Amino acid sequence: MHEIQESLTSDFIRTRIKKDLELGKCTTVHTRFPPEPNGYLHIGHAKSICLNFALAEEYNGICNIRMDDTNPEKESEEYVEAIMEDIRWLGFTPGKNFFFASDYFEKLYELAEQLIEKGLAYVDFSTPDEMRINRGTLVEAGVESPYRNTSVEENLALFRKMRAGEFEDGTCVLRAKIDMSSPNISMRDPTIYRIRHAHHYRTGNTWCIYPMYDFTHCISDSFEEISHSLCSLEFENNRELYDWFLDVLELHKVQQIEFARLRLTYTVLSKRKLIQLVQEGHVAGWDDPRMPTIRGMKQRGYPASAIRQFCSMIGVSKANSIVDYEVLEYCVRAELNEVAPRYMAVRNPLKVVITNYPEDSIEELVMPFFPEDDSKGTRIAPFSREIYIERDDFMENPSKKYFRLAPGKEVRLRYAYYITCTDVIKDDSGEIVELRCTYDPETKGGTSPDGRKVKGTLHWVSVQNAFPITLRNYEHLFTIPNPTNPPDGGDFLDYLNPTSCVDEIAYAEPYVATLPQETVLQFERIGYYKCASPYEEGTSPCFTRITTLKDSFSKQKS
Ligand code: ATP
Ligand code: MG
Repeated sequence: MHEIQESLTSDFIRTRIKKDLELGKCTTVHTRFPPEPNGYLHIGHAKSICLNFALAEEYNGICNIRMDDTNPEKESEEYVEAIMEDIRWLGFTPGKNFFFASDYFEKLYELAEQLIEKGLAYVDFSTPDEMRINRGTLVEAGVESPYRNTSVEENLALFRKMRAGEFEDGTCVLRAKIDMSSPNISMRDPTIYRIRHAHHYRTGNTWCIYPMYDFTHCISDSFEEISHSLCSLEFENNRELYDWFLDVLELHKVQQIEFARLRLTYTVLSKRKLIQLVQEGHVAGWDDPRMPTIRGMKQRGYPASAIRQFCSMIGVSKANSIVDYEVLEYCVRAELNEVAPRYMAVRNPLKVVITNYPEDSIEELVMPFFPEDDSKGTRIAPFSREIYIERDDFMENPSKKYFRLAPGKEVRLRYAYYITCTDVIKDDSGEIVELRCTYDPETKGGTSPDGRKVKGTLHWVSVQNAFPITLRNYEHLFTIPNPTNPPDGGDFLDYLNPTSCVDEIAYAEPYVATLPQETVLQFERIGYYKCASPYEEGTSPCFTRITTLKDSFSKQKS
């Protein structure tokens, strides 16, 4: 299932660009990312952003950002700002290379008139149904519209009336006059302008006609002297039309290259579905840490560098496939491993009394933030006669392979001492409520001077200093790997995971109380967490899970 490609220096897009440079089809590499400001960016967009910026950088070129804003009803300034914020957060700065398709409305209009003058466009008053039926099918040619042979003069006059607001929405459209019997349906006289009496967030009420994507996109690319216009596979059939417009209008040529969009297991990446999740309240918002949006991932605590690494690791391909979410988590862990200091916290605690440890003594033990690198700092955690360990770290009747605590067995307490279990205390119902152990004072720091080895190392906290916290454990939002295509044609919402956000109480070492909000850390043997609400008198701070420590992906790889 893993769609990992190794070094990306040799993918089909880079091969193609190299060839285009050699053949002189272009002299510099100029790419663009064209979001429509009608929603928030998600990890699929990140793939496109990383690819476009990486190509520009590799070839010493430029990558533009262009708001593809030709649908007045759905677009807003708020989305523009959110998109730019996310792009910057991902680590890319478009600077002056930032454009709006709406800035080209006047020039696009002029080019549409040119098409009419060339006899290559006409105003069509057919109803949408008539147009749909007359477009034909994959096996049947289309039928020419009765308006197809209107004179150039009349078409010009009609198109100017469209612009002047003399027609209601939907009365007519401007169509390119190409070929109703083309095997490529995109070429069967596609619509290039439609009437929308709607306020546009940037052009206000200046326009009541708006250009269609296929017309706008290639021309905008050309105006900006884009060399390679990378888009997803659905646009493969539109390439012929893309080339046609640039050709007949004698504009700067651009190479359109299609690649497979990113799909990721256990998530949905369609804007429509994401909007539904937010609007119907299945998540807290666009930045809910379970959302595959850039802001959701930021909120979750995924480092931008991990997302960039993921995008470069999955590479680009022509084949549609679905990437395992584990690949993304693998990248997140790899980054966090370097930057997240370690602390100890105990879930589901079991009290251990160290019977030979002095009653009122508290020892301050020094522990590294990073077990492999003392130079990255240390913290202090108190050790005392009574500690908590996790209930799962003790077994009364262990199997041979159980290396943690059991009656008569010796284990290491992380950065502290070796302890041996001497007694198991139970309540009337037979439940274990406490363990009695002895410690070996010679093993301070966790090594024995006589070279005695123990296999298990447990994390722990001192009972009298333990600090209660909430662990908010996030899981996938969906229970099935491919919620976009649920089995038996079901709805994706039927597969929402009821346990995608579960709170759990834990007891942490006291140092944790001093951490500011947003701190990213690892609770040893538990997972990577982010401090979502810091400690305040009388409250229990909340730590949200970024990812678990389990790493089945790297195990599969090795
Ligand atoms: P819609 O089709 O609903 O408009 P969209 O995802 O295409 O949604 P855009 O804002 O138009 O939204 O996308 C901007 C760019 O991001 C496009 O060039 C598109 O190809 C690319 N893109 C969108 N989704 C993905 C994805 N899952 N993988 C790779 N690229 C994507
Ligand atoms: Mg789109």
